[in-house]
Amino acid sequence: MLKFFLHKARATKLCRQKFACKVKLYLATLLMASNCFAAQNDRHVSEITSIIAAQNLEDKKGLIRAITPAELEKLKKYQIYNDLCDDVITRIVAVEVEYIDFHQKINRGLIYVFDAIAPLVVDLFKDLQKNKIPVYGISAFKGAKFITNNKITNIIPQTNYNYTGSFACRNSRGLNSRSMHAAGMAIDFNPLQNPFLQIDDASGKVVSVHPFDGVKNVNKKTKLRINPKQKGFIDAKTQKIFAKHLFVTWGGNWHSPVDYHHFELDKQVANLLKIAPLAYGKIIIELITQNNTDDDKINKIKELFKSQSSNSKQLTLAEHYTQNPNNFMQKIILELNTEPNIHTPPK
Ligand SMILES: [Zn+2]
Repeated sequence: MLKFFLHKARATKLCRQKFACKVKLYLATLLMASNCFAAQNDRHVSEITSIIAAQNLEDKKGLIRAITPAELEKLKKYQIYNDLCDDVITRIVAVEVEYIDFHQKINRGLIYVFDAIAPLVVDLFKDLQKNKIPVYGISAFKGAKFITNNKITNIIPQTNYNYTGSFACRNSRGLNSRSMHAAGMAIDFNPLQNPFLQIDDASGKVVSVHPFDGVKNVNKKTKLRINPKQKGFIDAKTQKIFAKHLFVTWGGNWHSPVDYHHFELDKQVANLLKIAPLAYGKIIIELITQNNTDDDKINKIKELFKSQSSNSKQLTLAEHYTQNPNNFMQKIILELNTEPNIHTPPK
């Protein structure tokens, strides 16, 4: 136990901001943890989790923090959080991000996301800012519904809603399944310039547009957005920046509905992160995103487990993880780690 903490303290001290070094540190943490604690148990997982969470807070200079009780009340009041998300609410954190608004001014906003991806969200907004990609505004509350005297009221007309945000405990629009927003693993970006289109499958026609005023930014016949030069338009460059930070799925590529403002994680990766403790989630993310995220790395993990599945039902990554978490972690470290000094998986 003492050996583990001494090693950890030394590694943290030696580690600078360098990305590769951080990967090493996470991997070293996993290796040391496995060596020091013979059997995996909840205690050791929670110890690693708290150490890495603390280190992460340090890394991001106070930009990531836990939700306060007052904030939780507000999220409830505005119906952003409800009982449906009880399984995930303890893993939602508040992230302060900086962005350039439509008037070229630098602003700060608060976005609620899943804890393991919070550092990526900080970097995502830094990257957007560096590339001068403007954001109209960031808010979880503006335009949301809230309850007064048992009545649900909108505080601003939903028709021109244009705020960027993530966590919202709800189903996908027009579907009965839970949205990735309900786990803080999806981001809606400048919705007015990049509206959501509900398509009638029989006729192929656009039947509704959200937010409603976004109708002026879309050709209802072709279903394509118009005026690509306008501020806030999600172009190929913006999509690439989101994908680099793990938001590899863009709703603009969907056929029905078409959700131009929506980015989310790969579904299998998202479900895996949901059940893995924060420490393991961070390792998984570091492995996928070191030297840029690409679908190849995610597919590589899927392929790795695909070849080992029996010929019956293909299991998801989350199901493979559940069968044997340590074994799962060892396999992906061996497959994806490109750091020359970290090559021995925990035994
Ligand atoms: Zn969305």
